[in-house]
Amino acid sequence: MDAAATAQQQIRQGEALRHVLFATVVIGLAHTLLCFIVLQLNFYRETGLSFPQLFTMIWAGHLALVLFVLCGFNRRLRDPGMTLVLMSWLTLVLLASAWYVDHVRLSVMVLFFAALQLGVFRVNFLRMAVLGGVCVSAYLAIVLLVHHHHPASIELTPALIQWGAFTAMVLAMVLVAGEISSIRGQLAERNQQLGGIVERIQEMAIKDELTGLFNRRHAMERLGKLKEMANRGAFGLVVGYVDLDFFKRINDRYGHSVGDEVLRAFAATAREHLSGRDFCARFGGEEFLLVLVKSDLSRSREFAEDLRRSVEGLQFASVPGMKVTVSVGLAEYRSGEDLDTLLARADEGLYAAKEGGRNRVCIMEEMNA
Ligand code: GH3
Ligand code: MG
Ligand code: MG
Repeated sequence: MDAAATAQQQIRQGEALRHVLFATVVIGLAHTLLCFIVLQLNFYRETGLSFPQLFTMIWAGHLALVLFVLCGFNRRLRDPGMTLVLMSWLTLVLLASAWYVDHVRLSVMVLFFAALQLGVFRVNFLRMAVLGGVCVSAYLAIVLLVHHHHPASIELTPALIQWGAFTAMVLAMVLVAGEISSIRGQLAERNQQLGGIVERIQEMAIKDELTGLFNRRHAMERLGKLKEMANRGAFGLVVGYVDLDFFKRINDRYGHSVGDEVLRAFAATAREHLSGRDFCARFGGEEFLLVLVKSDLSRSREFAEDLRRSVEGLQFASVPGMKVTVSVGLAEYRSGEDLDTLLARADEGLYAAKEGGRNRVCIMEEMNA
């Protein structure tokens, strides 16, 4: 994993921890405090678990969640923030306490909105709706069961009215969450489209549209980097100017579109020959730059001769029998020299190849030797 991904994961883990701490500390404490006040006001009905027993269990759960995240176990989950788990746990806690709290049951259940808001930006509409539905139904069941088992502890009509108001609020909040969820979906789609556009723009910035080869600017950037590495003795570097012979005639005889087809065919042939960090760029018109890494002059000559022969052998379905040839001038990089000097030598080689009759590879160093 690279450093950026690790940093990203650490940020996500930090967010998850804050999320869990907020849920347990803020909502958990508010809930405990509220129920404690309820206990002081004698609204806590101790039928079953006593207040300390119930809240020991609840806080054991809260702490287990915090420890789970502190130990990093949440990293393996699809949602490391455990939003739905937290929301479900808090809902369960509220419902458990709602069983024991008489008369002011709604004030405890209102904390469900705090649990719901945890998921507004993270959980989809359907899950929010299911959780809201489960909570509302369980709340109703509690009201009816308390009325059935402890009729003296509840006034059914006010309790049902409170439940109705609660249900309406839950419905409203779930609908808002649904709206937000759909906006999130649209934003995600827009982001994906933008990502595609950015990728395309990046591609257009470095590539020639017709041939798909690197453009001149990007080729020079790459060459500059390779030159630095070559200066450090990482490898040898050879560049070559490649120019299509009598290309104007092809255009004039067969039309511009055939000319374009020839340019694309040359690019495809060059690509087939290239490997590793070697590359070919379109410098403009029918002129290309070859950059060969780790190559000495004799190996580069072999490479260029192979490429020249392949181009000579190209067949074009649109113009059977049409011959295309290239002239190539090669030059080897001398440590410390600037790129203009290197390219000027390659250009001299190309000029010599044209002068010498075209369809050939020339190296000035060899000619001068
Ligand atoms: P030489 O062997 O001396 O290189 O002769 P040449 O005809 O190849 O050279 P010249 O520079 O006279 O002609 C290059 C031609 O390339 C002229 C121009 O119209 C054509 N050309 C430049 N860019 C494109 C292109 O994108 N598509 C097509 N079809 N032709 C192009
Ligand atoms: Mg030409
Ligand atoms: Mg030319």
